[in-house]
Amino acid sequence: MSPLVQGVKEGVFRRHVGTAVSWLEKWFRIPHSARSTTFNANNAPHLNDIIEACCDLQHQKVVVRACTGAGKTTVMEAVSLFAIAVEPGPMLIAGSTDKDIKDWAESRLIPELKACKPIAAILDGMDRHDKRKTEILFPHMSMFLTGANISGLQAKSIRYCYGDETWIWDKGMIGEMKARHHDRWNRKTILVTQGWETDKEAPHDMDAEYAEGDDRRRGFECPSCRRWQLYKWEQIKYERVTLPESEVIDYDGTAKTTRYECEFQECKASFEDNSENRRRLAMAGSYRAFNPYPMARVTSITCPAWAVWWIPWGDLVMEWIKANEAKHRGDIEPLKKFTMKRGAGVWENIHTRVTDADVTSMRSDDFKLGECPIVPALVTLCSDVGEKRTHWSVQAWAKDGTSYVIDHGTVLGPEDLLGLIPTLSYPIRGTDRFATIQQGLIDSGDFTELVYNVCLRSGKTLYPSKGSGAQAGTFRESVLDNYGGLPLYLYSDYQAKCALYESKIGKKDAPRMYFASDVSEEFMVGHMGQRKIDSQDRKTKSWKSVSQDHYGDCSKLHVVIWWILRRYVEAQED
Ligand SMILES: [Zn+2]
Repeated sequence: MSPLVQGVKEGVFRRHVGTAVSWLEKWFRIPHSARSTTFNANNAPHLNDIIEACCDLQHQKVVVRACTGAGKTTVMEAVSLFAIAVEPGPMLIAGSTDKDIKDWAESRLIPELKACKPIAAILDGMDRHDKRKTEILFPHMSMFLTGANISGLQAKSIRYCYGDETWIWDKGMIGEMKARHHDRWNRKTILVTQGWETDKEAPHDMDAEYAEGDDRRRGFECPSCRRWQLYKWEQIKYERVTLPESEVIDYDGTAKTTRYECEFQECKASFEDNSENRRRLAMAGSYRAFNPYPMARVTSITCPAWAVWWIPWGDLVMEWIKANEAKHRGDIEPLKKFTMKRGAGVWENIHTRVTDADVTSMRSDDFKLGECPIVPALVTLCSDVGEKRTHWSVQAWAKDGTSYVIDHGTVLGPEDLLGLIPTLSYPIRGTDRFATIQQGLIDSGDFTELVYNVCLRSGKTLYPSKGSGAQAGTFRESVLDNYGGLPLYLYSDYQAKCALYESKIGKKDAPRMYFASDVSEEFMVGHMGQRKIDSQDRKTKSWKSVSQDHYGDCSKLHVVIWWILRRYVEAQED
């Protein structure tokens, strides 16, 4: 269709002249609002451009990434009202779940429709069957409300598709929703959400949706030097205040020191954290595009919490400090939440994956289970204690650290290992001798006391071990005084997994580890699916937990036992 014909057609529908925001100021009433019961352009300056983009005829797609508490729900309501009264067309609004969207319709949308005079008049003339919580069938257009699921997103032909909180939608659902447009010439897709989590191997659907737009970001003109700058978290400054005579942080005292500092060296104007100042900057705010090559008719917009004037910067500083403290304890979740929810940012995970082929290629054609292919310098048994079964495996070690998995199996509980170990003996290739178990580790993370007792009864063969959250180092020995001085080995679970999965299995680093050619399927699967996640700051790393990796945990303990015994083995006389 030519732009001329399109314009003529649009003109027929568009009765309102002026901006969407000015129309909303006149007609949009918000009965439940704590801040203001009428819509006013000065109330939330950061929302005006978002609302205009959602309501204009230029944009076919609008993607908004805004912090929690920015007023995203108000945008959804404003856009609904404007569409119904001014720019009608079949509309689909999809929230993350059916319940979320029904609750919203009941508590907010329907009271607002009734409070909007031009729409109330239409509603009055309608049958109550046409006003259900999941669809409202106006005489001139239909509105469908659904959760982001296949059944809700199917079959209808829609002009407006509005997706709310798409960060949490299942993969593929945005595509399902967009397919409802049936390539209408006047289609409009609106996606409004907080930030999301993505990674290169499995990108979030929103990555591409956002990247197609012009990436408009919120900034402001400094009231002091008049220069425009992005709202930046780094420009929020604070002093760390501690409680009297202690190192414990005083959160309230710290929050009180918060201020925003102009980023320009020659200016550095400082704005104390109060609603007057925050509002002053917000009123001097605007969006600027950062993607010079957007797709035609697509806009994308980001607005973080520090650009929303009613969110105190001091509150954000407290959240930030707490999130970083958690990070130092090894818990990255609060920082991830801060980034996605408050910063409206995208959290990128970087993975190192161990492939199934990496695991299957650990098998050596050279030996089978039950035989020892070398004259061993050491023979170890390590065991992972589970709810229903206890897994164990045996490795024979050469003096240089090369190891061979020569046996594996399960027993009901760790106490059964005591009867099992004396029966295990393996013919040593090329000799008439047999290899027997010398030392072993058992994971004492669960069933701790039972494991300690089994170790005590093993006659200095088995020792308890426990993984720690330490990112660095290998292991340390502590002594259990209540168990006759039994040593307990604490090891870095992260480093042990790196050594096993990344180095020995992924890269086949020396000294090599070999599996017997006939290890069971279960043994192999027990080493599969491991992924290392580097968080965005590349400082905090972790291995994603995998279920059914008990045999992998046995192999991990073999790595740890080598860390412990290596120096003794290497010192042996040949
Ligand atoms: Zn300035």
